[in-house]
Amino acid sequence: MKLRDKKAFITGASRGIGRAIALAFAKEGASLALGARSMDALSSLAYKIEAEGGNAVPIQIDVGDAGSIDAAQSAVDEKLGKVHIVVNNAGIAQSINVLNMDDAHWQSHLDINLTGTFRVTRAFLPGLIAQGWGRVINIASTAGKVGFQYTAAYCASKHGVIGFTRALALEMASKSITANAICPGFVNTEMTSAAARNIAEKTGGSEADALAWLKKVSPQNRFVEPEEIAAVAVMLASEEACGINGQAINVDGGAVVY
Ligand code: NAP
Repeated sequence: MKLRDKKAFITGASRGIGRAIALAFAKEGASLALGARSMDALSSLAYKIEAEGGNAVPIQIDVGDAGSIDAAQSAVDEKLGKVHIVVNNAGIAQSINVLNMDDAHWQSHLDINLTGTFRVTRAFLPGLIAQGWGRVINIASTAGKVGFQYTAAYCASKHGVIGFTRALALEMASKSITANAICPGFVNTEMTSAAARNIAEKTGGSEADALAWLKKVSPQNRFVEPEEIAAVAVMLASEEACGINGQAINVDGGAVVY
């Protein structure tokens, strides 16, 4: 068990990649605080983890709201104790071209994907420092390394997440705390299904055609599974990864090769 005696807070744990990370961390022995807005989904995941012998508590959080982040941090402290590992996974992705993008679209991506990552990290960092050991794992995207059309706000937010991760890594390097980002390509989750539905609606094609087109973005002609992202998160959270710091690791079948 690579994460025995470790406590972790995972945002966006109610479905998709965050849920897969929670299940993988629990399997490795970590005690978990599961964060998202949907308490029903979090509670049923916590129930499943506990039924399988693990330890998990649901914590309501809206990472786009500073007050909600502070309240969640206090609730995690109270219900689980100080955590060693923070996974900033919660995120949104919507598409529109720049000419038609309104301020609300732009701001929501920055607030949730980028400022949320910063604020959650800032809230939990003193606890990591106090324990003399920590891991910050930010789920960015290949859209944090290259541009994709019609997703300028998303791309800007994810480029920001990688920049934030790199700077944080250097600030924490002497404290046995690492900060890294994972950059998935298209993953088999609701976020990708929603993207396919949106493309189908805009092009008048079918959702199946849109899914096939999105798969072709990867040289492997497939979507990454959430469990593949979770496996990299476990590796980064483990003791063995103490020398990996400030990296942004692509998990995309080779779609982006830097
Ligand atoms: P998803 O299935 O849509 O899940 C998103 C998660 O984020 C949900 O648990 C959702 O929970 C949570 N969330 C959204 N807004 C939130 C908010 N304001 N406060 C708290 N939680 C919030 O997406 P996913 O595919 O698992 O994506 C997870 C992360 O991976 C995101 O950061 C995404 O950008 C990144 N990523 C995904 C892909 C992909 O192809 N799917 C590719 C690259 C990167 P609630 O709705 O319950 O709050």
